[in-house]
Amino acid sequence: MKIDGACHCGQISFEAEVDPDAVSVCHCTDCQQLTGTAYRVSVSLPSDHFRLTKGSPKTYVKTADNGNRRLQMFCSDCGSPIFTTGEGEAAQEIAIRWGTIRQRRDLAPTRQIWCASAAPWLDAVSALPGTAGD
Ligand SMILES: [Zn+2]
Ligand SMILES: [Zn+2]
Repeated sequence: MKIDGACHCGQISFEAEVDPDAVSVCHCTDCQQLTGTAYRVSVSLPSDHFRLTKGSPKTYVKTADNGNRRLQMFCSDCGSPIFTTGEGEAAQEIAIRWGTIRQRRDLAPTRQIWCASAAPWLDAVSALPGTAGD
């Protein structure tokens, strides 16, 4: 599936070819802090199926306890997280942040990881009173 997207301010944009089934949710505490919200949703793809069409993101390097370095690419103007990748062999795959993808409503997650640290109220959200707008 062909997709495209951009950060919130529009300084950075991209296009990619993705498998619509390669969408996952991560509940790890790093993702909670890095996104500022309850969990991260992203689409994984080979990095050669991804192309920046405008701008160049800033990189934040997250070093895991095992020494693995993950590159977190974000817009230095508006702060939107855009994608992540790794180093060496891990650079061959990237994960695009779901919220920056224009066609995101067609991309539903098929699995979730790090459920042990998921927000304890998550299952209750669908039952909360809601409105169509604010
Ligand atoms: Zn931006
Ligand atoms: Zn995570």
